[in-house]
Amino acid sequence: MRRSRAFIPTVKEAPSDATLASHVYLSRAGFISQVASGLYSYMPLAKIVIKKIENIINEEMARVGAQEVELSFVTPAELWAESGRIEKFGKELLRFKDRKENLFVLGPTHEEMMVDLVRNRITSYKNLPLNLYQIKTKFRDEARPRFGLMRGREFIMKDGYSFHASYEDLDREFDAMEAAYKRVLTRLGLDFRIVEADSGAIGGTGSKELMVLADSGEDTIAVCSKCEYGANVEAAKRSERASIPKAPKAEFNKFFTPNIKSIEELSEFFKVDSYYTIKSVAKRVIYEEGSEIVLFFIRGCDTLQKVKAINATDALDIADVSEEELVEAGLVPGFMGPLDQTKAKHVIDIDLKNAMDMICGANESDYHYTGVNLSVISEVAYFADLAEVNEGDVCPYCDGTLSFTKGIEVGHIFKLGTKYSEALKAEYLDENGKTTPFIMGTYGMGVSRLVAAIIEQHHDERGCIWTKESAPYMVNVMFSNIKDEAQVALAEELYAELQKNHVSVMIDDRKERFGFKMNDAELIGFPFTIIIGKELENGKVEILDRAKNEKISVERDDVFIKIMELIKR
Ligand code: ATP
Ligand code: MG
Repeated sequence: MRRSRAFIPTVKEAPSDATLASHVYLSRAGFISQVASGLYSYMPLAKIVIKKIENIINEEMARVGAQEVELSFVTPAELWAESGRIEKFGKELLRFKDRKENLFVLGPTHEEMMVDLVRNRITSYKNLPLNLYQIKTKFRDEARPRFGLMRGREFIMKDGYSFHASYEDLDREFDAMEAAYKRVLTRLGLDFRIVEADSGAIGGTGSKELMVLADSGEDTIAVCSKCEYGANVEAAKRSERASIPKAPKAEFNKFFTPNIKSIEELSEFFKVDSYYTIKSVAKRVIYEEGSEIVLFFIRGCDTLQKVKAINATDALDIADVSEEELVEAGLVPGFMGPLDQTKAKHVIDIDLKNAMDMICGANESDYHYTGVNLSVISEVAYFADLAEVNEGDVCPYCDGTLSFTKGIEVGHIFKLGTKYSEALKAEYLDENGKTTPFIMGTYGMGVSRLVAAIIEQHHDERGCIWTKESAPYMVNVMFSNIKDEAQVALAEELYAELQKNHVSVMIDDRKERFGFKMNDAELIGFPFTIIIGKELENGKVEILDRAKNEKISVERDDVFIKIMELIKR
């Protein structure tokens, strides 16, 4: 491509709301243009990068036998009613009516559509397994679209769905997809980690996220210092604590604790480690229909993990409650404990099951109980995993310790089981002629988010640094003086030669200052720029290796060989 003809409107200023490097540089380097909140147009460079990512995905999908389809973007609302997700997705679904007053939804994901495509077409176990995918625009009316391509409202996703006649077969496919996704990210040159993810109300271990490691990531992941274990904090688990503080030995008693409301005050008052105190966290739990106040109890040294709390209550969401609301419900803020369940629903952290020597609120102003033995309520109370793991906690699989790192979720693979096939009555005849719902898996990858993730992981203060497999052009050929015929001639020669050898190449043939062209090249982030300047008089040319930020001086006649070598390395 000739830069003089290319549509790459680079600019000095970043959008005022851009905080992430990828948002800043993809905007400044002329890859994307914002149309409205969460809506972007892709300009030629972005389009090339997207196609490259899509090609890699297509190749890896073909290797594992997944077949590409394309489902319509506009989806009938009845399908969403059938699965029940029309409520669950809530305002993220963009709904509209056609001229005949039929209600439609812009597809945010396509489980329902894919099940609808397959049901009544695959009717026998003989035609299973089946894995279908598409790469398609999605629309989610995100509450807070932000960070450019990272969290758009309209975005591109690769979404795949598999259908099976047994759970063993689903497990096999799930592993094959994990391996395929791993290859996609490896080929893209990304540093990533596959972590255990929240499986929502479905539960189980059949949900993994592919996280590109970057400080700007919105997800916190817990990783083990010794083994491969990694998990989103929303789902992370831990072993029993290695060292448990000394227990405060006390009889069961009601103590006068005037105005002692916080965990800090409480452990200070009794001179005990907050491990032996019970923290109550009151939340308004929101269901499809209605809401209620729920008290979550965890150890004083822990924090409530929101997603775990949502899963434990099978809620749509949880929100804060005011002290007034608690008082109105007959609760005593600051002194709430798990021994009286009559005023609100309770959920108690699993780590507290049978806990001894605890101190908790007495549900009476200015009073706490000491010497509480929770085994007295172990039969009647509801226990669930509620606490967020802490850095330094022990790995659930080995004796390593957990630490936190930030990740960008670029993929999510999930064992769905029969959730959608049952809801949509998608069934086949098994070997015994019995009607059975399909066992399903779903595999998502954020294509447009990947564009941003690559840059989050690969940039510097001057701009983008594309990895070899993702770069819009591998080589940029540049001369410093358009009036110097020898420079121009060599540039044209290299441009032609590289093209002939199937290297994606751009020639910066603009009549611009050298510094200006150089800034542009660094901002766009070509892996290699051949700089033909004054030194050509001495038979020398330079190659800028963008990732290494290194200029190599090369003999004029060796440039082509050298650049081919660098590309292959
Ligand atoms: P997030 O937790 O980031 O909101 P999600 O869990 O809702 O994402 P999935 O439903 O798992 O997303 O979708 C599959 C993939 O699609 C995600 O792993 C992510 O890469 C991508 N994706 C989801 N939402 C967006 C978005 N708003 N903009 C860009 N990519 C997205
Ligand atoms: Mg996800």
